[in-house]
Amino acid sequence: MARYRDSVCRLCRREGLKLFLKGDRCYSEKCSFERRGFAPGEHGQLRKKPSDYGLQLREKQKLKRMFGLLERQFKGYFLKAEKQKGITGTNLLLLLERRLDNMVFRMGFSNSRTEARQLVRHNHFLVNGKPVNIPSYLLSAGDEVQVREKSRKFPSIVEAMETVARRGVPQWIEVDKKNFRALVKMIPAREELTMPVNEQLVVELYSK
Ligand code: SF4
Repeated sequence: MARYRDSVCRLCRREGLKLFLKGDRCYSEKCSFERRGFAPGEHGQLRKKPSDYGLQLREKQKLKRMFGLLERQFKGYFLKAEKQKGITGTNLLLLLERRLDNMVFRMGFSNSRTEARQLVRHNHFLVNGKPVNIPSYLLSAGDEVQVREKSRKFPSIVEAMETVARRGVPQWIEVDKKNFRALVKMIPAREELTMPVNEQLVVELYSK
């Protein structure tokens, strides 16, 4: 499968905000965005007024990169969101938010979504008591994720659980740290999603 292989820090610089793609490093002074908060490349520091299309494209890229998706996967989520009842932009955000790798990150079992995806693939979690190793698996309200018994001393999981306080756990998730489990209490409303994205611009881009 195709994969993005360049430095992920370039993506933050390109989008003009921290996307928190590298776990620990993102919270340290080694963060590239803190040191060079302008777009990469020869013309990165030139200020140009973006066109409407440019704004829509940047918003889509930002969201796609935040969740570590490729264009085809992302478009697939958009098409699914469009078919659902309600506001397409909100549906899109919720579909992305419900992914198992994202939830593992939100629950504090990993330091980044990339790390979460790898942990899920390597079979470190149970969903409602059953092993699930599909990062795109969609969770619903009432679902419970638990770190498997054999994985509870896994260094990156232990470290993530110790440091999660610096970013906090959303109120719609209930974490039982002692038993390495977390419950999705409810699917959040749009206002509870803190990602700095104008999803309407993404909808406009794909609706052309
Ligand atoms: Fe982005 Fe993290 Fe790299 Fe900083 S360290 S630029 S937040 S990926």
